[in-house]
Amino acid sequence: MLLDSYFTADRGVYESIRRQTTKGRKLACDKGCSHCCRSHVTIPVYPLEVIGIYWYVIQKLDKEQQAALAGPLRSHGKGDPCPFLIEGICAIHPVRFLACRHFNVFDTICNEGEDAFFTRREDVLTPIKKYQDEALGKMLPFHGIKSKPQRRDAIKTGWIHQHAQVLQEIDWSKLADRIS
Ligand code: SF4
Ligand code: SF4
Repeated sequence: MLLDSYFTADRGVYESIRRQTTKGRKLACDKGCSHCCRSHVTIPVYPLEVIGIYWYVIQKLDKEQQAALAGPLRSHGKGDPCPFLIEGICAIHPVRFLACRHFNVFDTICNEGEDAFFTRREDVLTPIKKYQDEALGKMLPFHGIKSKPQRRDAIKTGWIHQHAQVLQEIDWSKLADRIS
């Protein structure tokens, strides 16, 4: 369910980037660029995403990667930057959150501490709503919301957003316990 949701979100992001690049814009985001992971402090995370992270970290990371992550997860305090950024690389990149997948910037790499959403909104990718809603809708069966009309309603009323937590405020020490 979660991977299906991420696949849909990625298709939407790919399409938005394609539309911008045909207008001559260039994606600034690249591997190793991670100021956004440190400067953003209110990244929304949906319940199924938290389960996905537990699954990925426990089942898919090797012992060495788990050992590198356990310390930052344990010492992470409420409001601290994302603990999954290890030596400038996202340790959970294949299952990074929807919000992370959607945040892309064009033309100029962000400065340290910059949140381009506030400093130059015009350079930040606007996700295509159709894909964004579809990606969120694919998480809804996890909450028992299965039929199309129910899903549409849950998206329209923002029901799913009411169940989001803030990544930086989650107690990640429980995940640290599972890999220590
Ligand atoms: S959003 Fe900004 S800091 Fe983050 S990867 Fe893209 S250019 Fe780099
Ligand atoms: S989950 Fe990964 S991409 Fe998202 S903020 Fe954390 S380190 Fe960055």
